[in-house]
Amino acid sequence: MSIASTNPTTGEVVQTFIALTSSELDTKLALANRAFTTYRHIGFAQKAGWIHKAADILEARKLEFAKLMTLEMGKPLLSAIAEVEKSALVCRFYAENAEQFLGDVSIPTAASRSLVRYQPLGIILAVMPWNFPFWQVFRFAAPALMAGNIGLLKHASNVPQCALAIEEIFQTAGFPTGVFQTLLVGANRVAEIVKDVRVKAATLTGSEPAGQSLAAIAGHEIKKTVLELGGSDPFIVLKSANLEEAVSTAIAARMLNSGQSCIAAKRFIVETAIATEFEQRLVEGYKALKVGDPMLPETDIGPLATDRIRQELDLQVQKSVQHGAKLLIGGDMQIYSHTPLAKGNFYPPTILSDIPKGCPAYADELFGPVASLFRVADIDEAIALANCTPFGLGASAWTTDPQEQERLINDLEAGAVFINSMVKSDPKLPFGGIKRSGYGRELGIQGIQEFVNIKTVYVK
Ligand code: NAP
Repeated sequence: MSIASTNPTTGEVVQTFIALTSSELDTKLALANRAFTTYRHIGFAQKAGWIHKAADILEARKLEFAKLMTLEMGKPLLSAIAEVEKSALVCRFYAENAEQFLGDVSIPTAASRSLVRYQPLGIILAVMPWNFPFWQVFRFAAPALMAGNIGLLKHASNVPQCALAIEEIFQTAGFPTGVFQTLLVGANRVAEIVKDVRVKAATLTGSEPAGQSLAAIAGHEIKKTVLELGGSDPFIVLKSANLEEAVSTAIAARMLNSGQSCIAAKRFIVETAIATEFEQRLVEGYKALKVGDPMLPETDIGPLATDRIRQELDLQVQKSVQHGAKLLIGGDMQIYSHTPLAKGNFYPPTILSDIPKGCPAYADELFGPVASLFRVADIDEAIALANCTPFGLGASAWTTDPQEQERLINDLEAGAVFINSMVKSDPKLPFGGIKRSGYGRELGIQGIQEFVNIKTVYVK
């Protein structure tokens, strides 16, 4: 894939970039390596000042950055603005809490003094996706830099302008040269960077194959990794739920980022007693969604980020229909062919029901505005269906019965269970998955402790 900004609303190639040569890459790695020798000794107060400044820049220029995201990957502008604000929030969270999260922890033993000290590892490579081009990077960078590490960003090849803007933010905020750099390289260059002896660890947010590939190389090099991969998150609605709230949240949870979110609710598992009403309300809600130009404030759903993603999604929908799934709404991307949206990667909001086992909509990840609807007899069936996917990222479950809530919390195989709420990330709470959704955690205290040397100190 070439490194280029292509507007997904119009298909226009806005700007292309040339990938770094091997010697340019080496120069950047050398700079990062040198930066670590001094940056590792800088105190929390100084680092907090810089990261607060990064937050100030994000807030002051939020419209500019939001427009860049919408231009490069098509997310509706209002949610892009919210993403910039949330990126500032995560900077402030770690500015205020890093020192406490990484302070020495005394552990009484037979020694005169024994403790745990957290120290930075060095250069951390971040391989990031295009779907939340700012948030994904800041949720990595804020804790990594506050911990004293050096960040190298290999962003997705379709958001190079966002990648360069983020590098500029850290430089303008005052971080020393080389502490955070963007590497304009394609996925084919990740292996050589991971193998470089100066790089100490890597984090990847993206697809399963990408995670597998990076982790295999890092494993061979004995380097730590964090993987935030895909999901096919369940959204369970049991009969005691507040149906009105469940339906409106279901739509918001599925349509987050035009459906292109790892933690978007993807499989709606509803108890039979309320399934028909849920289905009718969901279809009505879908009909009211406005698909269109993502720069307009009234738009709910923008184009998908690339045509490849749209074609893959359509293939999954068509295969599911061939296997016997029923289309309740949507499923035909040709409906835009004679409209002003014809040149963009638009896909209609789609709902599938009566989905047979074995077809893509049953357990795979559908990365777009497509909901899979299932009916179940009771909570046992709901949990079994929710868990029958290779993924385990988030799960949302709706019931007012405290016993049912406890069972769902205990038995759902996911990195996070949200009761009567959609799954969302919060700087205060750890975020990550189990099973093929990956391992390790971002955010919270756990996030900042992923890329540190947990050093045991024993003084006799
Ligand atoms: P992707 O193709 O895996 O790309 C993600 C990043 O990995 C990009 O920078 C990409 O570079 C790079 N990459 C691709 N193949 C690679 C390889 N073999 N080795 C090393 N790096 C490689 O994923 P995507 O399609 O952009 O993103 C969608 C996926 O990300 C979905 O599965 C979604 O659920 C997941 N995701 C997960 C989370 C989470 O927190 N768990 C959050 C967001 C997204 P190029 O662009 O140069 O190919």
